Amino acid sequence: MSKCLLCNSNFRRQINYEKLLSFTKIKEKYTCNFCLENFAKKSGKLCRGCSKEVKKEGLCSDCLQWQKIYGNNLLDNKSLYKYNDAFHDLMVRYKRYGDYILCHVLVELIDNLPVADYYVPVPSSPSHLERRGFDTIRSIYQNLVPLTNLLIKNDNGKAQGEKNRNERLLTKQTFLAIKKENINGKILLLDDIYTTGRTLYHARDALLEVYSNCEINSFTISR
Ligand SMILES: [Zn+2]
Ligand SMILES: [Zn+2]
Repeated sequence: MSKCLLCNSNFRRQINYEKLLSFTKIKEKYTCNFCLENFAKKSGKLCRGCSKEVKKEGLCSDCLQWQKIYGNNLLDNKSLYKYNDAFHDLMVRYKRYGDYILCHVLVELIDNLPVADYYVPVPSSPSHLERRGFDTIRSIYQNLVPLTNLLIKNDNGKAQGEKNRNERLLTKQTFLAIKKENINGKILLLDDIYTTGRTLYHARDALLEVYSNCEINSFTISR
């Protein structure tokens, strides 16, 4: 028997053969099936820029805004889950209250990751790292793929999660790319949530300064 990290109930572990076939690593189960059912996978029509659920084919309103700045060079962001109450509550516990152990629930939710040559986590700012004692993104993805550090984040006051929509969009560039030799091919930026896209576009802009030879896309658990 295991204890569910979300609701504390005991549950029987079952090996999920479907997951076992699609993912090379056998993942531990930390979440009971009742809790897992509260997370909603996206379905139907998805925005071709950021994979938000949309009513009609094409780009969502956020990506249309990015198109004004970036033209056809939009970031291709893949994500798996809707940002619903269950996901919101999980992220509040994980990030605001710094409940590190919940990184295992997030790992369990990720049953599919796009293939890339380099997996680059979006880093925490130094002040957040100090406050929480762990890097929220690295702690999730290090369980899934080998990570390459190519970004530094400088402090910039409030965290994205504490800002309203307009404040988010007006955030200035705070990322800096780390120069490394022989980086070629596909880079996949990794983050937890795609809200306006501001963070990921900044991260890509910073990487392109140094790695303009690479194809840079992104993945978030939720959108
Ligand atoms: Zn549970
Ligand atoms: Zn979009």
